[in-house]
Amino acid sequence: MTAAPAGPVALRMDDVGAASKRHEVHGLTRLRLAGLSVPFPGNFLFLKYLPPIKCWGPYRELVAGELEAALERLARAGARMTVAVTAGWVEDDGSITPYPSKYADASRVLRQGVERGLVEVANHGYTHCVLRDGRFRPRLFSGNRAEHREFYDWLPEAVHREHLSRAQGILQDFLGRPVETLVPPGNVLSRKTLGAAAEAGLRVVSCLGASAWAPAEGLAFLDDKRVVAFHDRDLVLGGAAPLDRLLAAAPPGGYVTVREAAA
Ligand SMILES: [Zn+2]
Repeated sequence: MTAAPAGPVALRMDDVGAASKRHEVHGLTRLRLAGLSVPFPGNFLFLKYLPPIKCWGPYRELVAGELEAALERLARAGARMTVAVTAGWVEDDGSITPYPSKYADASRVLRQGVERGLVEVANHGYTHCVLRDGRFRPRLFSGNRAEHREFYDWLPEAVHREHLSRAQGILQDFLGRPVETLVPPGNVLSRKTLGAAAEAGLRVVSCLGASAWAPAEGLAFLDDKRVVAFHDRDLVLGGAAPLDRLLAAAPPGGYVTVREAAA
């Protein structure tokens, strides 16, 4: 274990609204160790030892009741959290449905969380994946994890700009307030993403290794050393227990949002 990080620690849940939970089929890439989420080369092991589709497989979106329970737990613990939402749900045919339309009840609970000051909604991309040529779809004999990242440097600048501004539009219209934090899907981003993010009104970038991208005009960076990150999948599969464990292990002063930790 390294020393406790200086400054407040943010709690962050990723992948709400991301259809990658349906289309992305591969092995485990994060392990929980002492309350932290750490990288794990699970694709290799998974593909080597286990049938590629059956053991990881798709999981469902969090429903309103589960989000309500999470908000109550945060409130009781005096904690706040950032929820990284992918603004567009990628349908099987590649068309996009905005998260607030696709999951109306759940998204309303999230908005209540924002209104109650318990939740910061962050931009977790527009699609969470590479859309073109159906590359997001599952494959029979290999993982497709690489296609479930959105902001590759090899994608044209216009794609970075379009995806970020569409996601901002959907989330900000729905919440009626600015969205200031970007959580790049899968920690993949480029200078093109950063330029587009600042243009779209984003002010903070939160991901693994974020500080390596500093400085960038108009943006602050919050490394995952200062963030306890988990996924909606943890709550879908584990119920409330994983969140309870994280809240019980909160640092002195409790968890804050990414935006607050970066301030
Ligand atoms: Zn994600």
